[in-house]
Amino acid sequence: MPRPIQATIHTASLRHNLARARTAAPDARAWAVVKANAYGHGIEAVFEGLRGADGFALLDLGEAGRVRALGWRGPILLLEGVFEARDLETCSRLNLWHVVHCEEQIDWLALHKTHQPHRVFLKMNSGMNRLGFTPQRYRAAWTRLNALPQVDEISLMTHFSDSDGPPGIAAQMAVFSAATQDLPGERSLSNSAATLRHGGEVVETGSGSLRVGADWIRPGIAVYGSAPDFPEHDSGHWGVQPAMTLASRIIATQELKAGDTVGYGSRFTADAPMRIGVVACGYADGYPRGAPTGTPVLVNGVRTRTVGRVSMDMITVDLSKVQLAGVEAGFGSDVTLWGRASHGAVLPIDDVAHAAGTVGYELMCALAPRVPVVVET
Ligand SMILES: *Cc1c(COP(=O)(O)O)cnc(C)c1O
Repeated sequence: MPRPIQATIHTASLRHNLARARTAAPDARAWAVVKANAYGHGIEAVFEGLRGADGFALLDLGEAGRVRALGWRGPILLLEGVFEARDLETCSRLNLWHVVHCEEQIDWLALHKTHQPHRVFLKMNSGMNRLGFTPQRYRAAWTRLNALPQVDEISLMTHFSDSDGPPGIAAQMAVFSAATQDLPGERSLSNSAATLRHGGEVVETGSGSLRVGADWIRPGIAVYGSAPDFPEHDSGHWGVQPAMTLASRIIATQELKAGDTVGYGSRFTADAPMRIGVVACGYADGYPRGAPTGTPVLVNGVRTRTVGRVSMDMITVDLSKVQLAGVEAGFGSDVTLWGRASHGAVLPIDDVAHAAGTVGYELMCALAPRVPVVVET
């Protein structure tokens, strides 16, 4: 028997979450963001659940090739554009749309030989200061692109730094709107947080009105069932469901006396007799090593806590708390690290991430290659 840890990808939840993002911006088309191997879920594993999207957005040419290999003939967008001139040949061959965020990318396009002009998304740096042309240089970039025979349609795009909380998106909306007001083309502004929190809003700026959902939304984290603005809102608030369950089993138990310690560094000391379970899951599986004693975990569907340090292949959990809830737990019991347990109980990945001082994004993306993934259809 293989080691009992397993990740399950829930196709129906992906479908549900994508539909949920669409209801927040009903007039927009939706990119399903599948960068970072679909946030750790696996591009092939999520494809069935997300094929109802209008396109797939990602970063890596290899990942774009994998989406095409699955038979996807619709739009694919490279969110960082190309990294060197010859990547444009792959774009032509695979019919990839790509972001243009810097002059170098325009230089490469100007020299590119293609029969089929490319669809590009011209990115504005509206305040985040990562990628994109400043509002002052945006129009010149657009004019340059528009003059190139290698370029077909130009769409306009930006990315928010604070869509998940204060100070919000108003300032960037105003900057983008003012600098693009008379430029033609479709617009794409919103990630998950902006879509769920503001997707239907129309922002009146000095230079006209602009819907936050615009023409294309770009939901990532929400389609995987995590709340983009946790802990202000949780996944229940947004009506999204976990797309991944990480589950394992208890492979040993120990009876502790008061004063006994657990694990490396003896970081947990029992203050009374208690029973603990040893779970086949550790940081080499992607479980966060920083998760302290008290991190939530489900045993036979009952919420309990980790005790002691996370080690490479194991964590230890409090079984006395499960027995107090009237549920038997011991050798072989089912453990849910995040996601769904068998009797309908759910442990949101955000709860685990929060306890470990990180975000759901990081836990998903860290799922280790050694964990077998099964797709539930
Ligand atoms: C990753 C990414 C997204 C998706 O962000 P979420 O917070 O996961 O919804 C959207 N747009 C761009 C440009 C991105 O890089």
